[in-house]
Amino acid sequence: MTGNPRRANGWRRDQLRRRVLAAYDVCAICGKPVDKTLRSPHPLSGEVDEIVPVSRGGDPLDFNNCQLTHRRCNRLKSNHSDAYARAQIKGRSDPPSASLPFRTIGL
Ligand SMILES: [Zn+2]
Repeated sequence: MTGNPRRANGWRRDQLRRRVLAAYDVCAICGKPVDKTLRSPHPLSGEVDEIVPVSRGGDPLDFNNCQLTHRRCNRLKSNHSDAYARAQIKGRSDPPSASLPFRTIGL
């Protein structure tokens, strides 16, 4: 296989991944800590995410274009923005207690 820059630069991508994992401790999308001992495909394992996606011209080998995220959060983001991913996470988990439907009050 030729013509895939991510594959051709696999070793550079590895170096960058190590740098990003060393530089950050929390997920850039949800703000929660990333357990770096977890391995893919664990949904909470650490992944390197391009701030400007490669599909939009971002450089996957530029440290300044990369951030640490959970695999789960990176999947939610896909080709959307960080804000979109955050909204997805908010809608799925940790609902405010006032919105829970089965509270019994005063009984
Ligand atoms: Zn996250």
